[in-house]
Amino acid sequence: MDIPTHFLYNDFPTFLRKYFPYKVQKISLNAGFTCPNRDGTKGWGGCTYCNNQTFNPDYCRTEKSISTQLEEGKCFFARKYPDMKYLAYFQAYTNTYAELEGLKRKYEEALEVKDVVGLVIGTRPDCMPEGLLHYLEELNRHTFLMVEYGIESACDKTLRRINRGHTYADTAEAVGRTAACGILTGGHVILGLPGETHDTMVGQAEILSELPLNTLKIHQLQLIRGTRMAHEYVDNPIDFHLFAEVDEYIDLVIDYVEHLRPDIVVERFVSQSPKDLLIAPDWGLKNYEFVARLQKRMKERDAYQGKKYKDSEKRIIFADDKFTT
Ligand code: SF4
Repeated sequence: MDIPTHFLYNDFPTFLRKYFPYKVQKISLNAGFTCPNRDGTKGWGGCTYCNNQTFNPDYCRTEKSISTQLEEGKCFFARKYPDMKYLAYFQAYTNTYAELEGLKRKYEEALEVKDVVGLVIGTRPDCMPEGLLHYLEELNRHTFLMVEYGIESACDKTLRRINRGHTYADTAEAVGRTAACGILTGGHVILGLPGETHDTMVGQAEILSELPLNTLKIHQLQLIRGTRMAHEYVDNPIDFHLFAEVDEYIDLVIDYVEHLRPDIVVERFVSQSPKDLLIAPDWGLKNYEFVARLQKRMKERDAYQGKKYKDSEKRIIFADDKFTT
């Protein structure tokens, strides 16, 4: 008998069906915000892996208004699914990094667009001021809202190395405050960051499971042209493990998911940067092809989300620089 996907892990479409009785699709927006890790407020130069062009589909350009980007995104998807509804996904850069009135105008402009049924706001853990959180708490009472934090790693040594400009304590604090307001709270992590071993990464699943996270996106590290990390790779390739073989990454993801709290919704397992920007790894797989391979392997391994959650007597503790068990 074929095992349904939701017995393997908590998948995002099943999660969305609890909120919406129809199909919903996220539309990525570039709202023209900047990033405090590039302008000196939190740091200079940005995260070492970041080239922001990778998150902007053709239909979203900074000079276009939020409503124009949403209408164009709707046209793109409505060809296939005329009855689709949409979530406005504030994705590029740091979407809580502006003064409150300007932020409100952009979020509310999105919600006024026909068939937009909610917001997803991507940001950094050190960019959620109290005033904005109170506004979002109120907004959350009458629309679907999710705040998605770039966590990337639970290890401060890694966070420093990739120049994130925040600590894991910032993540724990922001996720805790947001969830305490009743707002759906998501996270995003990168597997394969330099200096992190298989055990570090799998241990991260247990650490993040302590947070009140509703959803998690897991991505492989992608080496992108023009980034500081791409230069570091040229200088010291031995420092990187880029999962040349997709099967090795699939087995890592399965180990990770087995250690993840069973109720966290896993939204993605991979990301896809434009081919002309990507140095490695290039598996040539579309998202649905990756997911099909992952599910097949999970069944072969008799794996499921949470199977090894808190299974181990060894608790993995990150104490700043030290990774101890
Ligand atoms: S990944 Fe996000 S926080 Fe880091 S530099 Fe890029 S936009 Fe800024």
